[in-house]
Amino acid sequence: MARKCEICGKGTKFGRQISHSHRVTSRKFKVNLHTKRVVINGVKKKIRVCTKCLRKITSILC
Ligand SMILES: [Zn+2]
Repeated sequence: MARKCEICGKGTKFGRQISHSHRVTSRKFKVNLHTKRVVINGVKKKIRVCTKCLRKITSILC
């Protein structure tokens, strides 16, 4: 299962970590995903969404 938001498609970003002594190593910026149970067209479904899309969903449903 890919670490990706099912609504906006946001995924892992890559960057570099630089220490105080300026040693450079690669690092990942993982997307903050949450599982949300939703009803789409009368069908219950679990979707993995990022926190930004989670806010959008809850503002529509609640
Ligand atoms: Zn999203």
